[in-house]
Amino acid sequence: LNDDMAEARAALQKFFGFTDFKPGQADVLEAAFAGENILAVMPTGSGKSLCYQLPAIIRPGLTIVVSPLIALMRDQVQQLRERGVGAAALNSVNSASDNALIEAGLRKGRYRLVYVAPERLVRGDTQALLREAGANVLAIDEAHCVSQWGHDFRPEYSDLAQVAKSIGDMQLIAVTATADAPTRDDIVQKLFPAKPRVFVRSFDRPNIHLAMQRKANVTHQIETMIARHKGQSGIVYCASRKGVEKLSETLSAKGVAALPYHAGLASEIRSAHQDEFLRCDGVVIVATIAFGMGIDKPNVRFVCHADLPQSIEAYYQEIGRAGRDGLPSDTLTLFGEADVRLRERQISESDSPPERKRLERRKLNGLLALCETPRCRRQTLLAAFGEASEPCGNCDVCEGKWPFFNGVVAAQKVMSAIHRTSGR
Ligand code: ADP
Ligand code: MG
Ligand code: ZN
Repeated sequence: LNDDMAEARAALQKFFGFTDFKPGQADVLEAAFAGENILAVMPTGSGKSLCYQLPAIIRPGLTIVVSPLIALMRDQVQQLRERGVGAAALNSVNSASDNALIEAGLRKGRYRLVYVAPERLVRGDTQALLREAGANVLAIDEAHCVSQWGHDFRPEYSDLAQVAKSIGDMQLIAVTATADAPTRDDIVQKLFPAKPRVFVRSFDRPNIHLAMQRKANVTHQIETMIARHKGQSGIVYCASRKGVEKLSETLSAKGVAALPYHAGLASEIRSAHQDEFLRCDGVVIVATIAFGMGIDKPNVRFVCHADLPQSIEAYYQEIGRAGRDGLPSDTLTLFGEADVRLRERQISESDSPPERKRLERRKLNGLLALCETPRCRRQTLLAAFGEASEPCGNCDVCEGKWPFFNGVVAAQKVMSAIHRTSGR
């Protein structure tokens, strides 16, 4: 085991150019080398990919990686190849001849890792091929997709336990950033034949400043935030495509280097804007939630929500794109009654089963509680992820900047306003 860890360290250096493990990685790697089945819940940016990539590189056999997005798989494969690690992706966007080449490569044992789209993995012929290629580990990235309780359930993920069994005797390494306690339990139950080793790393990102405001003049509120971060890179999330276009136009007209990003834009435009954001500093990307998964820009200095996010998990994930380099970073989330009504309506009108709707309401309420809390925001946020903590000193509530919004205070204000007017 010590040898394995030494070898992992050497490979970390040789292939990735890093000298040390990030917090949490070593524990997961040790369990991986001990052959255990693993569920690792670690925050975004904590380096979960290496938890399955390093074992894949230094141990015999082939590691299958499942990930929900083809774009993410392509990124990872490309990065691994650039670093000299044999990796390939089997998916529906490859040409038939690409896939044939990869299949031949698999039979010849050319790869340490093969990334497979879930819908491809359920096919019997794919399973037979992977068995023949010596697959012995199934790594499941974004494992919360297995759970109906997670915020991004993918039906294709439901079959993974069965797939692992039918390919053969596979070690399972599941990783995710977003799983509250009920989601974790559900993943354990859906994915693993027996209780796995579960690792949960602190979700705290102390360098990210948290702040929330009621919507007043949204453009002005967002502009003020951007002005505080002149020349720095940031993301502004809007709930709708129309909102994105309007806000990015308004900001551009005021001289901000703002670029829109949403799924309705042509893909060339989307990737041009994304590239510019990644390449240059000082670009503000105005986007729907279509933007961000798999984006790895270390020096995003601020994240704004011009509209309320969909859930407390979505909030956490989106603000988490700020400050991956560990330097001070700023966030501002705006919310208003209309956001809440819209989200309520989306939930009611969706064709999800009632149980699911109840859950979505609970996640929305978790977020509203965070909006209106008179307690430290970080304490409230971490509590939602099952973590106890002290007041942080790095949020608007701790700084005394939050005009407590709760029913009592609001009612008192209204009453005193009435008294003032009637007294005159
Ligand atoms: P996650 O999936 O947990 O969000 P990633 O696996 O995408 O995180 O890794 C996030 C970033 O951290 C990547 O740029 C990766 O190269 C880097 N990284 C991973 N492990 C280390 C390490 N031990 N030292 C330094 N950087 C690391
Ligand atoms: Mg990841
Ligand atoms: Zn605080």
